[in-house]
Amino acid sequence: MIEARQSYWEEVLYNQHCDVLIVGAGLTGLSTALFSKRKNPNARVVVLERGVFPIGASTRNAGFACIGTVGEHLADLELDSETKLKERIKSRFEGLQLLTSTLGEQEIDYDPCGGWEIFTDQQVFEEVAIQVDRFNNWMSELIGEEEVYSIGKFEGYPAIFNRVEGALHPGKMIQKLIALNIAAGVEIRWQTEVKHLDFDNGIVTGSHTEQWNAENVVLATNAFTNRLSNKETIKPGRGLVFVTSPIKDIKWKSTFHYDKGYVYFRNLGADRLLIGGGRNVDYDKETTNEFGINESIKNFLIGFVNDVIKLPKGWKIEREWSGIMGFTESKSPSLEKIGAKTWQVAGLSGMGVALGMALGKKAAEQLRINN
Ligand SMILES: Cc1cc2nc3c(=O)[nH]c(=O)nc-3n(C[C@H](O)[C@H](O)[C@H](O)COP(=O)(O)OP(=O)(O)OC[C@H]3O[C@@H](n4cnc5c(N)ncnc54)[C@H](O)[C@@H]3O)c2cc1C
Repeated sequence: MIEARQSYWEEVLYNQHCDVLIVGAGLTGLSTALFSKRKNPNARVVVLERGVFPIGASTRNAGFACIGTVGEHLADLELDSETKLKERIKSRFEGLQLLTSTLGEQEIDYDPCGGWEIFTDQQVFEEVAIQVDRFNNWMSELIGEEEVYSIGKFEGYPAIFNRVEGALHPGKMIQKLIALNIAAGVEIRWQTEVKHLDFDNGIVTGSHTEQWNAENVVLATNAFTNRLSNKETIKPGRGLVFVTSPIKDIKWKSTFHYDKGYVYFRNLGADRLLIGGGRNVDYDKETTNEFGINESIKNFLIGFVNDVIKLPKGWKIEREWSGIMGFTESKSPSLEKIGAKTWQVAGLSGMGVALGMALGKKAAEQLRINN
């Protein structure tokens, strides 16, 4: 940070008023901004982001546009009621429709390839497969699609296919969303970390000692929310992802899930594989909002690539990174008022590609703007 005293002229730049101030330029924050501005074209809408780009989950995820495997739904039923889970599945489906229609399928490299849940254990497969009819009935009721799940095989493994899922490019997704925000007249201030927040008066202090006076403040900081919020409801969860160097004749072309969604992988273009997850291998260490690579999880995923995916010998990791998710207890996101002028919109619980834009839009609809 450059150290320099504020000039007389900068007073107008440093102490500013705005109608909506959003903290965090991930998918949720940028969507809140876009829909606030579209609804109120005369309102001053500002986004403050600590990174040069968003630095959380939105540009660091796996790009699965998914509504959930049968195995994941069964695991979720242990955490939440059937009613809540049904609401979330519907929200994921509608959220993906909103995302692709707002940004454009081509612009975000959307590929409606479907998604496979694979099994290495026949008994586990049979326990899950027996539930396929039940969840097909749910899908018919919730999203009006018949026979969403079907039983099949992939590379010799018993599998369940979901025909309404797909994959996209998270970098292009955020790039397009930034462009739409700028075109709409939203101001985005990069490299501005919010240090302090007065929830009732809407006074926000940034890392350059500038102060904002906002009618509405929206905390869209997902995994990092507890650092600023007066609630401690969001638990961070780090996720590891790596991409291989090019591989000849790669057979795994689609999106794939394993072990209730804890492991996921997909092809990238014609010859690369992306794989991520394994957080449950070292759960306590991954309950952190610090970026970093967990070597035991990395070794677990390497073993999975060799033993289950069976890539030809000699494959290499070309790039690896981590991202941080924010979880609520039940996995349903939190959209709540935490002060007279402040909202918290966080806890996308690892499903934000599907849920982030719709949640941001819902948040925008709650704000009171007098313009
Ligand atoms: C490894 C990984 C894989 C994933 N894969 C998938 C997937 O395939 N499909 C799927 O649906 N979901 C996936 N997710 C989840 C999804 O990416 C997230 O749910 C979603 O991106 C959350 O978006 P967000 O905008 O709420 O949060 P984020 O993208 O984390 O944005 C929060 C922003 O707030 C900023 N911020 C934090 N504190 C401050 C502060 N004090 N001042 C200013 N700015 C601040 C951060 O820099 C960040 O840019 C994955 C997540 C990870 C980590």
